Amino acid sequence: MKTLLASLLLSLGITLFAAESNTLTVGKTEITISPDSTPRTVPLSLFSGATEAEMKAIASLDTVNLDRNVFLLEIDEQLVLVDTGDSDGRGFLKYCLGKKQHPFAVKAILITHMHQDHIGKLIQTAHYSGSTGGGSMQESLFLFAKIYISKPEIEYWSRPEHTNSLAAKVLKICADQIVPFDFDTEILPGVWARNAVGHTPGHTVFETADVLFVGDLLHSAALQFANPDICANFDMDKDAAVIARKAWLTKVTESNIAIAGAHFPFPGIGKVKAEGDGFVFEKF
Ligand SMILES: [Zn+2]
Repeated sequence: MKTLLASLLLSLGITLFAAESNTLTVGKTEITISPDSTPRTVPLSLFSGATEAEMKAIASLDTVNLDRNVFLLEIDEQLVLVDTGDSDGRGFLKYCLGKKQHPFAVKAILITHMHQDHIGKLIQTAHYSGSTGGGSMQESLFLFAKIYISKPEIEYWSRPEHTNSLAAKVLKICADQIVPFDFDTEILPGVWARNAVGHTPGHTVFETADVLFVGDLLHSAALQFANPDICANFDMDKDAAVIARKAWLTKVTESNIAIAGAHFPFPGIGKVKAEGDGFVFEKF
């Protein structure tokens, strides 16, 4: 029906814009994907692990697009977010409001790692006024959610040299909501937190029976499925990132579960197949 409508509109010279969010059912898991912002176009020089010519041969351009996807799941009738994104404009908040949902409806948030584009919306700036004047303060946005973060990620961002980081601020403001976990723990029914350290010291992937949510295990679907040796320059320990990437891509091809990435092309979820020395990603 959608296709019929699209071709009818196209014949009238009207373009059908992409939906603001998209709900997919993968196995038994219902996933709503919200585009957090318009895709960012980045140069190949942001990546290393192959020559620029090799990368250009894979990507066919001098640049690649990095999308931003936020995943909302329903587990045991509870809303669960995988990361929050950091944008109001097109992001999860707009989706919530569109559905007349409130951020307080979210009961659990699974954090893959504590970079701004994954945790930015854990807090918001609230403005107030009073008899002695107004001001603003930062507060937790998803006030009734438990926030699951790996122990090594918390330890890293709690170091004195990171006091001024957004991550440190979030750890302080949301302290009462944070649930630290060890890897290989079933943190929610059927959801396992797994070690994918490399991009950050506590980078986590979340595994269900149907989907592996990989955060920033890969940034560019165009480059890094074909050649998992390629790292984005944001990978803090590149050797560990390559090992984790290859191990988890091999695992999802063997188990045939879907993979969901924060920066994959919208809707950010699909299947992976082994091909040659690398892999191929087919988005849903
Ligand atoms: Zn990211």
